[in-house]
Amino acid sequence: TKQNIRRLVLGNWKMHGSLAANGQLLSAIRSGWNQSSGAAACDVGVCVPFPYLAQAESALTDSDIAWGAQDISVHQQGAYTGEVSGAMLSEFGCRYVLAGHSERRSLHGETSRLVADKAKAALAAGLTPVVCVGETLAEREAGRTLAVIDEQLEPVLALGREAVAAMVIAYEPVWAIGTGKTASPGQAQEVHAAIRAALRGVDCAGVRVLYGGSVKAANAAELFAMPDIDGGLIGGASLVAEDFLRIAEAG
Ligand code: PGA
Repeated sequence: TKQNIRRLVLGNWKMHGSLAANGQLLSAIRSGWNQSSGAAACDVGVCVPFPYLAQAESALTDSDIAWGAQDISVHQQGAYTGEVSGAMLSEFGCRYVLAGHSERRSLHGETSRLVADKAKAALAAGLTPVVCVGETLAEREAGRTLAVIDEQLEPVLALGREAVAAMVIAYEPVWAIGTGKTASPGQAQEVHAAIRAALRGVDCAGVRVLYGGSVKAANAAELFAMPDIDGGLIGGASLVAEDFLRIAEAG
């Protein structure tokens, strides 16, 4: 299936940036990607903090780079102070939205049930949810990795074939995020193969499964060469245009 699945490299800026820094980063990414031949083989996008969506839209409109957000409300509108709806994200031209990043799960108590509801809200607004899953170090050491991934995917896959077909899944081992400790290509592939099998179970084997966790220009190509890794979700390295572009070129 590898050859048929178009790669995706997505930046996750997390809570980084400023108008001035973003302006430079976005224009460097835009012009660099425009000059590269990579766009023929790989989709690229950046998930930015909410206040910068308008800036991303104006900097990236009519380019080969998409943009998106890092979270979404399960609600459509109403008395939900601090929340941002899918319709609002759509108004700013978002294509992607992360759902269930491990920092949301661990720092904000997001459950897999809520994450599935966020994916559903994204789809209802015409956005592509990027559902993030991944085990902690303690879970890995207890031999529970695949069980944890299964539990996290279960309510998402229960949304059904049509919904799942419109998503992206990102495998991000928690112990590899922001630590400089990337999963080895073999470690990542083992989990990606299990995710692929679960996707195949709902007739969605063509859904893209990204790897995230300390992806760098130096290790992107070997990760993306694995049969079930269809691209990457890039944190720290997405804040440096040259690094992000080199990773996208490996896609
Ligand atoms: P990292 O973050 O690339 O800085 O490890 C990845 C992520 O959290 O999406």
